[in-house]
Amino acid sequence: MSITLDLTRSTASPKSAPVNLAGLTRTGLRDALVAGGICDAGKARMRATQIWRWIHHHGLTDFDQMSNIDKATRAALSDTFTLARPEIVERQVSKDGTRKYLIRTAPGIEVEAVYIPDVGRAGALCVSSQVGCTLNCTFCHTGTQKLVRNLTAAEIVAQVQVCRDDLEEWPSPSEDRRLSNIVFMGMGEPLYNLDGVADAIDIISDPEGIALSRRRMTVSTSGVVPQLDALGTRTQAMLAISLHATNDALRDVLVPLNKKYNLEALMAGIRAYPGLSNARRVTFEYVMLKGVNDSPAEARELVKLIDGIPAKVNLIPFNPWPGTDYECSDWKTIEVFAAILNKAGFASPIRTPRGRDILAACGQLKSESEKLRASAVRKAEQAAAEAA
Ligand code: SAH
Ligand code: SF4
Repeated sequence: MSITLDLTRSTASPKSAPVNLAGLTRTGLRDALVAGGICDAGKARMRATQIWRWIHHHGLTDFDQMSNIDKATRAALSDTFTLARPEIVERQVSKDGTRKYLIRTAPGIEVEAVYIPDVGRAGALCVSSQVGCTLNCTFCHTGTQKLVRNLTAAEIVAQVQVCRDDLEEWPSPSEDRRLSNIVFMGMGEPLYNLDGVADAIDIISDPEGIALSRRRMTVSTSGVVPQLDALGTRTQAMLAISLHATNDALRDVLVPLNKKYNLEALMAGIRAYPGLSNARRVTFEYVMLKGVNDSPAEARELVKLIDGIPAKVNLIPFNPWPGTDYECSDWKTIEVFAAILNKAGFASPIRTPRGRDILAACGQLKSESEKLRASAVRKAEQAAAEAA
């Protein structure tokens, strides 16, 4: 007599959440369609292009509206995949029109994105690349929030999709866009998440989708020198460098990463950035801190430091946050500083603080997602997957 044991129950792995197609790269989308049994490899390219246009050009979140796809395939897509947007936990609008979104992309993972009208060609979205940051720059609010984790490309792209939903900017307009520029200046250090950032830029710039030019995307780094070349080669994005000081002693304090990659190494890395030219200048960001880095002598040092580099300098009035000891320089001091740079031939706009009333300005972002122990995040994600 033989006994057959039914082991299916005890060995079955927990049902995993459906894959969200809205944040996959083109290749990822093709692979997912084949793996999900929607089509065979031979048809995958054509199917992926159809679906891609619905997702990234039209902004659809419902397979049923994909009118050039047959009913049976649409049903199979809805059974296997999702296109759902992440939850918007909070949306705030500042007196000046700036909009801040707090987005929950996964259990315990909350990120902020800020839309700023009348910046760049029409309006810029400031996106986050990590939850929190490891780098602890002393003047930055995000730096006081421990790193939770890198965001996936999907989580970065979702910030753009959420903002375009809110601006009602689907399908992708070819001109007169309200969201015309993307700046990686939200929470986190983009060059510690280059894979996620580069994939997100590929998705956002795809001509059959959102189709934002790579030259309208700026990646800001505190100076992760070994990744600069890869950033330029992989993304062709515009480069912004958070400089903030003209000598190592002060930069070591303001941007502690300077102890690892000092000014000499940083400047050499910038000079070698792929594609740097007068038409594609690097932006130096310089936060104006009262009595710390704002003297005329430092402005002259700055001119010497960046001599010969196709560059402009953004002077950022310091945005205060609860608990900081720094103060913003006086307006007159900032103007004197700017005049020295201008005289030396460097455009040096003073960045008007935007959205200060809703803590949406540079360096003020800090979500409540504190560093749950990694195991706790994993557990929460697993529990959510099981519940799905
Ligand atoms: N981690 C990256 C990108 C995010 S920070 C970087 O450091 O470049 C975006 C910009 O805001 C940086 O130039 C940063 O130095 C600046 N910033 C941070 N805190 C600020 C504050 N409190 N006031 C004004 N600018 C700030
Ligand atoms: Fe991190 Fe940039 Fe803030 Fe420094 S300024 S702590 S690198 S987010």
